[in-house]
Amino acid sequence: MAVETPDSLTSFISSVVLPSTAPNDIRGLVSKIEKKCAPELFSRVRFTIEDFLRELHIALIVVDFQNDFVNGSLSILNGPAQQDPQAVIPPLNKLISLDGFKMVVYTMDWHPPNHISFYDHAKDSDRVLSAQDQKRHLKAFDVVRFESPHTEQVLYPSHCVKNTWGAALHDDVKIVENAFFVEKGTDVLVDSYSGFANNDGLKKSKLESMLRSERINCVITCGLAYDICVMYTARDAAKLGFLTTVIKDCSSGLSDEKIEEANQIFAENNIAVNTESEAELIMTSKKIPLEWISAVISQKLGIK
Ligand SMILES: [Zn+2]
Repeated sequence: MAVETPDSLTSFISSVVLPSTAPNDIRGLVSKIEKKCAPELFSRVRFTIEDFLRELHIALIVVDFQNDFVNGSLSILNGPAQQDPQAVIPPLNKLISLDGFKMVVYTMDWHPPNHISFYDHAKDSDRVLSAQDQKRHLKAFDVVRFESPHTEQVLYPSHCVKNTWGAALHDDVKIVENAFFVEKGTDVLVDSYSGFANNDGLKKSKLESMLRSERINCVITCGLAYDICVMYTARDAAKLGFLTTVIKDCSSGLSDEKIEEANQIFAENNIAVNTESEAELIMTSKKIPLEWISAVISQKLGIK
């Protein structure tokens, strides 16, 4: 058996990552491995990556592509970044149509009509605003503190009320056969940005168990809004150990500032940000993001 060297590992990794990967980033990863890894472990890095490539089980999660976020009461287009969700539907449908996903999941914001995130219900009798916020005239995007339930909340216009037009997935978005659907934000007094759990972290949706039951180990996600529900869903996926990619040209975000923060969180959590055409390379040629390689060697070999 040939001895693995930094050079041979660099050229092996170059052969399996997405072609857009910067050579310097590959060299950076290999030198990190060199620093942290005993020589006898060094040769295991390649086998670990090869093992992983043989066992890719990829799910696509399309986040909240619902009428209210596209051209309804909380249209992303009206946000400060002015990104138009309708413009990303063609690449999104291309992505959804790719062969090879073990599952395609659509998450849906699915609120009761008096949901805690609706500003015109902030003073309802089943919740108590802080004294300071009670005096304010409340409007969309205000951040308030509730004494009961004890939580901070961004307020929005009423949106995605269950079983209404606004909550329906947009008609132009392709729905695959055997699709899975996950409803979130269904409880009156707690919001849910992530597809995996409520914002208080106390109640999980069925998403994780659905993915585990199909032995999913990689998640490709996209949708609305890039800087809120896509970000929280991707972050939770990565924290649960799924290798995660966000497809930026199949997503739209609300504000440039929050999009920048989201990108920071992705970088800190080994979450790749790719394009639809790169997703095609993942699905057709098993070319993977460098972040997935970092995550695999961190999970399997403890090299961080
Ligand atoms: Zn909502």
